[in-house]
Amino acid sequence: MGETDVLIVGGGPTGLMLALELTSQDIPFRIIDSSPIRSDKSRALVLHSRTLELLNRHGIAQEFVDRGNFNLAVRIFANQKFVFENDFNIIAFNDTMYQNPLIISQAEIESILDEVLMKHQVKVERPVTAEKISQDETGVTAVLRHEDGSEESLRCKYAVGCDGPRSIVRNSAGLQFEGAAYPQDFILADVHMKWETRECLHIYLGASGFMIVFPMKDNVWRLICSRREALGADAEPTLENFQEMLDKLLPEPVQIFDPVWISRFKLHHRIADNYRAGRMLVAGDAAHVHSPAGGQGMNTGMHDAVNLGWKLASVIRGENDDSLLDSYNIERRRVGQTLLQGTDRLFEFMATTNPLYLFIRNYVMPFIMPWAMAIPGRRALAYRFVSELGIRYRKSPIVGQATTWKGTLKGGDRVPDGRLLKGNIEITVHSLLGARKHSLLLFSGVDGVTSTDDLEKAHVEFIEASGRSIPVYTITKSSSENIEIMDPEGLVHRLFGFTASGFVLVRPDGHIAFIGPLTSMDELKTWMER
Ligand SMILES: Cc1cc2nc3c(=O)[nH]c(=O)nc-3n(C[C@H](O)[C@H](O)[C@H](O)COP(=O)(O)OP(=O)(O)OC[C@H]3O[C@@H](n4cnc5c(N)ncnc54)[C@H](O)[C@@H]3O)c2cc1C
Repeated sequence: MGETDVLIVGGGPTGLMLALELTSQDIPFRIIDSSPIRSDKSRALVLHSRTLELLNRHGIAQEFVDRGNFNLAVRIFANQKFVFENDFNIIAFNDTMYQNPLIISQAEIESILDEVLMKHQVKVERPVTAEKISQDETGVTAVLRHEDGSEESLRCKYAVGCDGPRSIVRNSAGLQFEGAAYPQDFILADVHMKWETRECLHIYLGASGFMIVFPMKDNVWRLICSRREALGADAEPTLENFQEMLDKLLPEPVQIFDPVWISRFKLHHRIADNYRAGRMLVAGDAAHVHSPAGGQGMNTGMHDAVNLGWKLASVIRGENDDSLLDSYNIERRRVGQTLLQGTDRLFEFMATTNPLYLFIRNYVMPFIMPWAMAIPGRRALAYRFVSELGIRYRKSPIVGQATTWKGTLKGGDRVPDGRLLKGNIEITVHSLLGARKHSLLLFSGVDGVTSTDDLEKAHVEFIEASGRSIPVYTITKSSSENIEIMDPEGLVHRLFGFTASGFVLVRPDGHIAFIGPLTSMDELKTWMER
């Protein structure tokens, strides 16, 4: 029987991201997919700011940026009248290098991840299907079916189901997938269009339904709409169905032709009752499915993988006991639940058939929306949720802050990014943080600046007490002989809330493990010994 540490079932975006995390942790694993080839049809079309930050922990965000485009705006029309336009390019967050969503197809994303993994000699094994999976106290046994019909038994320490909504891992682990299907049927078409308009997301609302029109590459546009009655149960959608909807909803005539892909699908909103059952875990669509409103499904799956990767590695290396994996469920299931609630509300608003809601959507919203979104702060707030920059794990049992800490950032929050100077070279906070290990940041403070001797002492004491090789970076406001990272304007200090000196222990997924003033470093040491 073959053996490995982790079996990843499913080579979609979630499985690929987990493969990347485990590769950077040097953990032996195998990744399999039942499909003989990768699909060239794209479901997701957007990478959000936080996902780009997470990819950049591996130094690869630029490869996605080079093959995508940041020029995303949304225009909303109701009853064939223009209501409102929101330009994502003018959102100005002060704590990230990735201000805007990146338009890039899921097929392209998967292909880049494949290429990156190939550089590490990692390849998704396909077609290989996980047919049976069971676990006992010491490991997991999987029965895999290969292309030639042969059967293989594989023994591993953990199995992760990144195998989509029908997950065999989730079902074999006895986890429930709570929720239901939305009543509507959805139809999707990627088509060419003759259309003089800005290349951006268009949303059309009207008495006959709604239509989302999204720019892809090379003059191809994605059309998505819901149709409750028009199509019979078995009827396949046609180009004419879409043309008919466009004629009803758009203020001007447009012509669609040369479809690349036409499909119909049913949407579900479901979440696993636990993301972990012993040695079997689920991530991505195997753990949660929801409406694509907000474009977050794939992004969230990739974030699940990042959260899980370093924890699995730490447990497998024996640095932490197995209970660390419970925090994966605690942290990520809460995110999944919030996402389900948010997308449900948005979806109900978009796809409603309730006459009262329809009236509000089609007649009241056109008046309120331009007013509500006129203020840049409100627009930024709306994208903040979608961008997933605001995700935090404050209620997690594995994060914390010093009792003396009064700052607004807390344990579990995402580490903000900002610009620093290393000598004369501009660097960012995130460029200091590793994807493999925790990192400790020491800040001098901007008011009564702590002496470099005190910072050096804190550094040395931490290394001695932690007994682990955790990289430590000291950031000062003014230059000094032996400290090379500077925050001359004090902007990064302020982002973290360090007017006085302080410290932050950062997890490999870029979230704060523990934060406090430098005078409370003892609390960090006690916390690490728990
Ligand atoms: C119309 C539509 C539009 C969307 N738009 C967006 C968007 O704009 N933004 C966004 O973030 N998300 C979007 N999503 C959601 C996104 O596509 C999914 O969330 C994403 O694909 C989930 O990735 P995954 O890797 O978890 O699962 P999947 O992509 O489903 O991959 C699962 C893989 O597991 C394999 N597999 C299954 N069973 C087995 C088995 N027994 N053995 C081996 N392999 C197996 C499958 O072959 C598959 O390759 C959209 C979805 C739809 C339907």
